[in-house]
Amino acid sequence: MKKTKKNITIDGPAASGKTSIGQKVASLMGYKFLDTGLMYRAIALKSLISSLEVYEEDKIVELCHRTDIAFNTNTKEILVDGENITDQLRERHVDQRVSLIAKLPNIRKVLVSQQRVIADRNDIVMVGRDIGTVVLPGAKYKFYLTASLEIRAERRYKEFTGSKTKILYDEILFEMEERDRVDKSRKDSPLKPAKDAVTVDTTEMVFETAVGTILNVIKGTIT
Ligand code: C5P
Repeated sequence: MKKTKKNITIDGPAASGKTSIGQKVASLMGYKFLDTGLMYRAIALKSLISSLEVYEEDKIVELCHRTDIAFNTNTKEILVDGENITDQLRERHVDQRVSLIAKLPNIRKVLVSQQRVIADRNDIVMVGRDIGTVVLPGAKYKFYLTASLEIRAERRYKEFTGSKTKILYDEILFEMEERDRVDKSRKDSPLKPAKDAVTVDTTEMVFETAVGTILNVIKGTIT
């Protein structure tokens, strides 16, 4: 009989710590890791390169079917059509487009089914916006990470500092607030905590405390 794989879901708004915390939890538990945001980013970037407008949903769905997304589930990286473009996926023009692409139900259908196949084959920590609510509603452990908008904008600002992108903190804060608004208000799979998710507010938490909090819940010492 096929053994059911163990899945841990982590959802939350931009820069709430999902990727760094999720990756650490995965490595400590010997699980794989998948950042589903990169999948939406890959399609957003390719739609920009192909000069598609966000209302051209059918063409973007076709693009989605033609795109090969391969994961190294041990790292943060993904290969898009055989190329490691993970750094490009985090650039600002992709930030500005991605939520508009992720709103499109037919794009979500394609990516969600790929995510379920991956979860079916691996013990995995999967992070995103709708993993606990829609992609893997039956997962045993679900977390919702959050933090104040200001602290999240500051974290993102620090990521850009030293990069080629000249960007002001206020602009990041504004764009992040807008992205959160689109993600939370869309009809299909809006960002919200699953009813059975444990919420962890990382505003005043150091990284190690956040990781420890999640591990404690999993080990059953908190719930
Ligand atoms: O997590 P990250 O900020 O890279 O996600 C980029 C965008 O992808 C989000 O703002 C959201 O619009 C979309 N996304 C989503 N569902 C997921 C993961 C990401 O809609 N499971």
